[in-house]
Amino acid sequence: MARTIIEPFRIKMTEPLPLTTRPQRERYLADAKFNVFKLRASQITIDLLTDSGTGAMSAAQWAAMMTGDETYAGSESFYQLEAVVRDLTGMKHVIPTHQGRASEHILFTVALKPGDVVLANAHFDTTRANVEYLGGVAQDLVIAEAGDPRNEHPFKGNIDLNRLEAELRSRGDKVAMVLMTITNNRGGGQPVSLANLKAAHELAHRFGKLFFLDAARFAENCWLIKQREPGQSSRSAREIAEEIFGLADGFTMSCKKDGLVNIGGLLCLNDDALADKARSLLILTEGFPTYGGLAGRDLAALAQGLTEVLDEGYLEYRLASVRYFFNLLDRLGVPLMRPAGGHAVYIDAAQFAPQIPRWEYPGVSLVNELYLEGGVRAVEVGTLMFGRPGALHDEPAALDLVRMTFPRRTYTQSHVDYLGEVVGSVFERRHRLAGLNITRQSPILRAFTAELEPLKAETPAQGGR
Ligand SMILES: *Cc1c(COP(=O)(O)O)cnc(C)c1O
Repeated sequence: MARTIIEPFRIKMTEPLPLTTRPQRERYLADAKFNVFKLRASQITIDLLTDSGTGAMSAAQWAAMMTGDETYAGSESFYQLEAVVRDLTGMKHVIPTHQGRASEHILFTVALKPGDVVLANAHFDTTRANVEYLGGVAQDLVIAEAGDPRNEHPFKGNIDLNRLEAELRSRGDKVAMVLMTITNNRGGGQPVSLANLKAAHELAHRFGKLFFLDAARFAENCWLIKQREPGQSSRSAREIAEEIFGLADGFTMSCKKDGLVNIGGLLCLNDDALADKARSLLILTEGFPTYGGLAGRDLAALAQGLTEVLDEGYLEYRLASVRYFFNLLDRLGVPLMRPAGGHAVYIDAAQFAPQIPRWEYPGVSLVNELYLEGGVRAVEVGTLMFGRPGALHDEPAALDLVRMTFPRRTYTQSHVDYLGEVVGSVFERRHRLAGLNITRQSPILRAFTAELEPLKAETPAQGGR
């Protein structure tokens, strides 16, 4: 039998990839002040900035778009979506939103009081920002293994159950909920095991707390459970998903990930009173409860996407393509965050270019080289994004990583082979990579807008920049 796991689709509509020359890219990058967030799509050949909203929809989803019902109140597309979500998750209340952070804002507004604590394996950035904006405290309790890129633990998204229990005991009266992010995006798309989800659920309920999911990548998490967790290999991804959703009192979801759509979110709840409050706020900020900030056609595409995402041929291909790229780079000796995660491959930039001091942004240096080499856009997840400006130089982030994120159903194996060559040739001359200086930055979320300038490779590393 053939061993190659093929893309389980053929291409019906194409979109040209911009092809550029190295001199063009040098100019584009300089014009972008050496920050790839400022590049334009037409300057990028392969865009691995994010997997959010960047995937390809299926013919069935486009067909559903055409039959989307744009009725303001009572859209049939809403009832289709509600039926699909209820069938999968068992949730009583299905509330559409325009994207994940809107669900988070509404949930935390109705479920938190100032000073309340949310205990999570790991809060995604927007989740943490919404908790904190509403006066709450977002506490991450991911297992210690997650902090070591070389540790091969199969479920590095797991919550530390001892610490969770200790927190519930010591400040239980302040805790509003336990929230599990599946998969852990910040930590490398690492999954949470079913056993860990069950145990966290049991602890939350023993202490009378709500148990919530951030389900942005639930299907990828379920597939990794099927592949990696003892006793789960004979179950379908859908059975595993049903069991996980069955544990939860509710969930938020960015449908731009495992909803397989370009825009959309969900807030689902079992509690009637909480759902009433959420819907009132939804009307104020998003729209009527049967469309929640989306067009009817978006609801229709989402209903279809949530069905397709649990197709095992799709999931096998999806996780295999991430693993394929991981293995390509691993064979070259590129330092990676291990093991392969669900939606991205992370390069350890501090190891890749150890000659660059952490406060001269080795991750940005690598990202920029990848762009210059092959028109590939990756994203730094390190000191530019999470470091704090200090007196002499930045306080480095915990890790300096470069994330190469895979949009869903968008690139083929030859694109991935090309990516391997691009990373490979930058890796061969890694000793020549040099750091950068920030010339301009904003006090919050600087990574998106910062302006930088490259330092010369010969310049000896100096503090105080
Ligand atoms: C993307 C994401 C969100 C936020 O969703 P948006 O649709 O971008 O607003 C929340 N949690 C996780 C885990 C995510 O990956």
